[in-house]
Amino acid sequence: MKRDRAVFEIIQKEKQRQKQGIELIASENFVSNQVMEAMGSVMTNKYAEGLPGKRYYGGCEFVDQTEVLAIERLKKLFGASWANVQPHSGAQANAAVMLALLRPGDKIMGFDLSHGGHLTHGSPVNFSGKLYRPGFYGVEEETGRIDYDKLEQKALNEKPKLLICGASAYSRDWDYERLRSIADKINAFLLADISHPSGLIATGLLNDPLPHCHIITSTTHKTLRGPRGGIIMMGKDFENPFGLKTQKGNTRMMSSLLDSAVFPGTQGGPLEHVIASKAVAFGEALTEEYKDYTKNVIANARAMADAFVDRGYKVISGGTDNHSMLIDLRSKNITGKDAENALIQADITVNKNMVPFDDKSPFVTSGMRIGTPAITTRGLQKNHMESIVELIDTVILNATDESKIAEVRHQVNEMMETFPLFADGAPEKEKNQA
Ligand SMILES: *Cc1c(COP(=O)(O)O)cnc(C)c1O
Repeated sequence: MKRDRAVFEIIQKEKQRQKQGIELIASENFVSNQVMEAMGSVMTNKYAEGLPGKRYYGGCEFVDQTEVLAIERLKKLFGASWANVQPHSGAQANAAVMLALLRPGDKIMGFDLSHGGHLTHGSPVNFSGKLYRPGFYGVEEETGRIDYDKLEQKALNEKPKLLICGASAYSRDWDYERLRSIADKINAFLLADISHPSGLIATGLLNDPLPHCHIITSTTHKTLRGPRGGIIMMGKDFENPFGLKTQKGNTRMMSSLLDSAVFPGTQGGPLEHVIASKAVAFGEALTEEYKDYTKNVIANARAMADAFVDRGYKVISGGTDNHSMLIDLRSKNITGKDAENALIQADITVNKNMVPFDDKSPFVTSGMRIGTPAITTRGLQKNHMESIVELIDTVILNATDESKIAEVRHQVNEMMETFPLFADGAPEKEKNQA
């Protein structure tokens, strides 16, 4: 077959874009060559509905082995007693949990989307807000932080059946112990969606949700630095809420309800090439190098937040505990949309984001979200953060000055030239790989 130049030339351009820019989107990262190699492997050819050892198809002996490796490594990484590695994405993982725990019309409560929450925690445009009745808690305008007393009052009033913690743009750690005590008062399930900080939790740098939350979901492609995908875990298994019985008359455990909610509940065949790649990524996350990486992610985020504050920017909540921060641009008289557009001209990628109590629409916004997972993978250190903030500041203060922005772009490209996409020094055979 003839090589499909049309597609591969575009992929080559995307690779060049990634190489020459400063990637500050908090949910992105750069995977290693071996994580990518497993994703682009023959495992993609295999149908394997069911679980390892219990499949609906023949010929699954090898995909069984990689899926078992993925499950065992993931359990070890988080100290989980049970895990399912099949969800195609973070959204699919949440859909499966809700299908397992709830009936349509049940009440749920999550972190307000306009304060940095996620669509799948009850947004009206998402299945979670259409099938279930959502309520929300948020941050205080003064502090930019969650007030757990107020959260408790809200939960006691609204009595959701499922309480969800976790966010896409919240720079502070979570008090899972307190959240569990709140959930217990109203007999609610507590779900921690750790999609963003999961890698930092795995290495023990943030509070551990596993001892406190009934169920934990995550993506695998953010700080965890694996292929795009989702996972579900439990610290320990428990009996299900509805007293559903198996054919033998036993009560079904939560693990079995969750497995069924993934397949056949919300998905067909699992992506075994992605699962093999997840196994590789979890193996990487168990190493000392990865632990050092996560420490650097946090050190870089703190240095960056400090540098923004020094230049007169308002960082929501005044700083960060994790890999990300949310910046209110109103004091600089620019919208999130205009800042994002100006920065992209300089090959700096951020995303516009609502800030808490934003007066602008989600398409315009007053803020930008910034994260350090991707640039830390490329090997940038604390001392580079000051320079990056200076470059960003120059663009924001000269957002309509094309020649100034071109100057910054030149500096950005020069700076990034020396950093490989994946900083472990993997050989640059990449060049012809795409
Ligand atoms: C990114 C994210 C998700 C969704 O992940 P996808 O893989 O994009 O579906 C879910 N929850 C939170 C909190 C997230 O940040």
